[in-house]
Amino acid sequence: KTILFWLRRDLRLSDNTALAEASRTGAKVLPVFVFDPNDPVDPFDGNGHRLRFKLKALRQMAEQLAKAGKAITVTVGDPAKAIPELAKEHQAQAVFANRRYEPDSVAQDEEVKKQLEQAGVSFQTHKDAVIFEGKEIVNGQGEPYKVFTPFSKMWNASLDEDQLDGQARTASLGALLDGPVTFPDNRALPFDTEPFMLPAIRREKKLLANYADTRDFPATDGTTRWSEHLRHGTLSPREAFRMAKETNAKLWTELIWREFYFMVMDRFPHSMENSFKTQYDNIRWDNDEALFKAWTEGKTGFPIVDAGMRELNNTGYMHNRLRMVTASFLTKSLLIDWRWGEAYFAEKLADYEPASNVGGWQWAAGTGTDAQPYFRIFNPDSQAKRWDPDGEYINKWVPELNSLDYPQPIIDYKASRQRALDRYKQALNP
Ligand code: FAD
Repeated sequence: KTILFWLRRDLRLSDNTALAEASRTGAKVLPVFVFDPNDPVDPFDGNGHRLRFKLKALRQMAEQLAKAGKAITVTVGDPAKAIPELAKEHQAQAVFANRRYEPDSVAQDEEVKKQLEQAGVSFQTHKDAVIFEGKEIVNGQGEPYKVFTPFSKMWNASLDEDQLDGQARTASLGALLDGPVTFPDNRALPFDTEPFMLPAIRREKKLLANYADTRDFPATDGTTRWSEHLRHGTLSPREAFRMAKETNAKLWTELIWREFYFMVMDRFPHSMENSFKTQYDNIRWDNDEALFKAWTEGKTGFPIVDAGMRELNNTGYMHNRLRMVTASFLTKSLLIDWRWGEAYFAEKLADYEPASNVGGWQWAAGTGTDAQPYFRIFNPDSQAKRWDPDGEYINKWVPELNSLDYPQPIIDYKASRQRALDRYKQALNP
């Protein structure tokens, strides 16, 4: 008996629910991965960082499996065709996978399920990427929460130790099918296949214990850098919570934000495209293309904003403080639609997580769940003074700051502040 275990955003062999469940059936399990040129979240014509991250993580996994004589198949194609074909080739009775939650990924999984069932193969999905799914944490009326704090209280009250157990979700290597590693040639992968430098998964207790004090200072490297690993599954969310539990309460809460935004995506799907709070759909954005371009290139003449955008463009990562500053600047100071910024981040971020990205953007734009109120507008200069007091982060990314090459500010910040206040007020009192 053979079962296919379809890897997606869970690129690890231990603490992996679907893999453990597949092995429990007693069948031999073959891990498979399909690079989908039209993937709903990571298409080939989109971000190179994410595809390169996956390729690197898969190569590492394949190396480990090859050493044990175990098989893995990595291929390229449309999963709705490729998965049933692989099932047929290996005479698999079932395909197991961990659930995805983005609306377009959910639709793709439904299509794959349909195709498999037509061929007499069952498709079983499991909860793995989150501790609680969207429908599991609800208020006394059985409704989803619209603000974070009561959600997080209920989340904590609902948790029991088993939900963070990684051991129970770890299959033994012996459950895997013996056989070759099948990997596509780089030529079949029409994206930049230069290996991505996977940041190490930080597990040092000392670093994590200081998280609350260091997390807001971009020059200190004081955050976990777990986001890319959580996004692609090289780190299990259960392990992340276990590490946070041992070290820092603030870190624990940040991980619940991730769960909160997954819930919002699931229960309020309108907010993936439009304002969470619908009255903000009336905002009249300026959407000036030249200003947008200057923002994307890190040439706004506001050093902290430019530093953040250049970090993103160069590394596929941006520190959280800078995500807040650059997003606030785009929406409130330049009056550009948060969806433009969201799409730009989606293209560039290696950790692009649709739920958290939309959540973060709507927070910054003042249109989201716990949004920053519209009248709180980040002043880029005071943000820089407070969070980068020695200018270390800015100097790293904007070395030409004090030369003639550095652009003049593209807007008058003070005037833009008033303009934003007026525009938001207009939207709320049409
Ligand atoms: P840490 O500070 O070390 O946090 C640990 C983990 O907690 C993170 O890896 C993440 O999983 C979670 N977390 C922390 N803060 C948040 C938050 N505000 N919302 C949700 N989860 C959080 N995060 C993404 O993973 N993908 C995105 O696409 C993304 N887009 C964002 C866009 C904007 C405009 C904003 C303001 C925030 C966005 N975030 C996003 C949240 C946050 O900025 C990143 O998770 C964080 O910077 C990643 O670095 P880290 O792993 O070192 O974070």
